[in-house]
Amino acid sequence: MNMLGLLGGMSWESTSVYYRLINQGVAQRLGGLTSAPLLLHSVNFDTVAQLQREARWDDAGALLGHAAAGLERAGARGLLIATNTMHKVALLIQQHSRLPLLHIGDATGRALHAAGRRRVGLLGTRFTMEDDFLRHYLQQHFDLRCEVPEAADRDEVHRIIFEELCQGSLVDSSHQRYRQVISHLADRGCDAVVLACTEISLLIDPAAGPWPVPLFDTTALHAQAAVDWITGDTP
Ligand code: GLU
Repeated sequence: MNMLGLLGGMSWESTSVYYRLINQGVAQRLGGLTSAPLLLHSVNFDTVAQLQREARWDDAGALLGHAAAGLERAGARGLLIATNTMHKVALLIQQHSRLPLLHIGDATGRALHAAGRRRVGLLGTRFTMEDDFLRHYLQQHFDLRCEVPEAADRDEVHRIIFEELCQGSLVDSSHQRYRQVISHLADRGCDAVVLACTEISLLIDPAAGPWPVPLFDTTALHAQAAVDWITGDTP
């Protein structure tokens, strides 16, 4: 199997989900006591979140790039950045090592494309919804048109991620608010909604519908791509 390097801790709440899903996926595929060979560098998210707020993206990229280089020295042969938002600096991170990146946009785009989706709503942090790094990636590589919620909805989606989900708090009214935002996107003609923040599936379960349109969870899709890569089944 291939040794994966995981850049996690952004937040650790979702990294723990990645860890479980990757190990479960590898065990399911290969059976018995098999588990995933991986190295985890889990950062202090408070530092990263502060760099995000101060728009110090180069510094954040350098911080994660050095962590990636450490994973390479420790024996990793591939890299996974366990957050949508920090793919904003994926190219910067990649400058610090020779590790191939399992990009979250590829895992997500492939699933949307295979399901025949064309016009998708994105829920994520303000950075993911308002900057174009993920939207552009999905458009360029998978010909997907991406829509984001209205400003007031974006504020709430972002606030709930940082003030609640990244701190392990699951609030009923926030669940209802996300439901509403998903409906708004469906009403605007989206044929899918992407949970483009790795904590959202802690609150919103795509399998526990009914939902007005299918939901695509980046955490599960990215973890599945990791299983494929670790076991040598990468498409
Ligand atoms: N995990 C989140 C994401 O997927 C947000 C935390 C972060 O800003 O990295 O975007």
